[in-house]
Amino acid sequence: MFDNLSTKLDKAFKTLKGQGSITEINVAATIKEIRRALVDADVNYKVAKEVTDKIKDEAMGRDVLTTVSPGQLMTKIVYDELTQLMGGTKEDVVLKGDPAVILLSGLQGSGKTTFAGKLATFIKKQNRTVLLVACDVYRPAAIDQLKVLGEQVGVEVYSEPENKNPVEISQNAIAYAKKNNKKVVIIDTAGRLAVDEQMMREIEQVKLAINPSETLFVVDSMTGQDAVNTAKTFNDRLNFNGVVLTKLDGDARGGAALSIRAVVEKPIKFISTGEKMEALDMFYPDRMAQRILG
Ligand code: GDP
Repeated sequence: MFDNLSTKLDKAFKTLKGQGSITEINVAATIKEIRRALVDADVNYKVAKEVTDKIKDEAMGRDVLTTVSPGQLMTKIVYDELTQLMGGTKEDVVLKGDPAVILLSGLQGSGKTTFAGKLATFIKKQNRTVLLVACDVYRPAAIDQLKVLGEQVGVEVYSEPENKNPVEISQNAIAYAKKNNKKVVIIDTAGRLAVDEQMMREIEQVKLAINPSETLFVVDSMTGQDAVNTAKTFNDRLNFNGVVLTKLDGDARGGAALSIRAVVEKPIKFISTGEKMEALDMFYPDRMAQRILG
């Protein structure tokens, strides 16, 4: 992942090699290359422009110390700006209430159900009792998939296969959690192949009825700019708290990771890097910037 972007950025920094200082003239070509590298990696053009303008402003007027070359200085400036672009610092999932409720949203195939299993594992490791809730009333297979995952990770799965009302199911699940001393409830909702009005209304109603302390939007990082657009659509309706980027083990070009925060103004909280239940990491903007710079 990010190989292409890393190579191109490296090449951009090399154009500064051999220069004694950073000046408006010699930085222009580098800035242009950085911008092109970001756009090629599927970073939204406006975001790429804003960030490279900032990089340029930062770079200008900085005295190059004798110990660092202009190329090294530029690398550091880009690292700082990419870290800021992705939110600056890590943001934790909010677990408030008894039980704390986490609502998962996203398109079908985004990796939502897999993430539900991973998140349950992650929270269980903190010695909290978890209840997984299968709230997909359209695909019976989705309920089975969550049950298999629940069994695999040793977490109980609540479902009502005959009930077609997700609001009722989630409310009943929360009541069940209270009675059975489960401290965290993770609700896996229905996903569709595209954003549609009925689905949006349904998940909006679920959110309104259960008032979760955390609403997460799960998105496939391989879908590039589409990931950012879908995030925007979901956020406009759901006002979610955080993003989960999945399939970062694939050959995603990086655009989603880099643009989502700037476009949607919500933090990425987790990254999913494989099909195994352990393949989940919290999102650290600085570590991701480091990875991008290779
Ligand atoms: P849902 O429809 O959103 O619930 O998506 P699923 O959880 O069923 O995932 C869809 C497919 O993507 C499945 O084959 C998963 O095994 C796979 N998947 C989910 N997360 C990841 C990930 O981080 N990396 C990879 N490589 N595959 C993943």
